[in-house]
Amino acid sequence: MSLKSHEMEKLNVCIIGAGGNSSLVSLLLSHHGVSGIKIVDGDIIEHTNLERQVLFGNSDIGRNKAIAMTSIIRSQGTFAKIEAIPEYLDSLNYSAIVGDCDLIIDCTDSILTRNLINEISASLKIPWLMTSSLENSLELKLIVPGRTACLNCLSEGQNLTPINCSYDNVEFYVPSLASILGVSILVNYYKYSLLDDCIYFYDSKAVTMIKVQTSRRDSCKVCSMGNFPLLDEKHIIGRSLY
Ligand SMILES: [Zn+2]
Repeated sequence: MSLKSHEMEKLNVCIIGAGGNSSLVSLLLSHHGVSGIKIVDGDIIEHTNLERQVLFGNSDIGRNKAIAMTSIIRSQGTFAKIEAIPEYLDSLNYSAIVGDCDLIIDCTDSILTRNLINEISASLKIPWLMTSSLENSLELKLIVPGRTACLNCLSEGQNLTPINCSYDNVEFYVPSLASILGVSILVNYYKYSLLDDCIYFYDSKAVTMIKVQTSRRDSCKVCSMGNFPLLDEKHIIGRSLY
């Protein structure tokens, strides 16, 4: 087993959504040392966010989430170049935002935005990590174009439609748990070259992890056929959805 920490250190990462799932992801990756991190979110911090979004405090209420998270991580003095994008990802701005990135991390709570990221990933050949939290549960999957099933492969052919997370209905610690487990999947892939094309389901009440094998579908409209209906619509989609 080779140790390739340099593969992580070279990564330019784009984190979509600066909420609960992204708090520890951004912190861990910046401390570990990746090349760059973009944090993308047009939303504003509210008092109700603070329980799950552990980087923010009362003094951050009213600030843009991407700007606040970026300044908090910069204040730690880590080496990664951190950039705030105080916008929502959509079908018009995605190329400028993620076009120079090596990895997209989905930390949103929207199935629609997640499908948009899936099309962006397949179109630009950029891997993405899906993180999703709901109540006491979370789901994770690393999607690598050409090597694993994409999100559409799951929903079209394997009846594995991921949960639509809602931060109004999630236990306070679950987004942080999703962050840490998600980073472990990234380390497995980029450092140890481990890629199992599974989707992981964790039930924190039962303290149980289940992994389900998935596979690419030759008939998948997105990753095999190259149809990108959300990107082709060329209207603003994704805005206000995470
Ligand atoms: Zn697919």
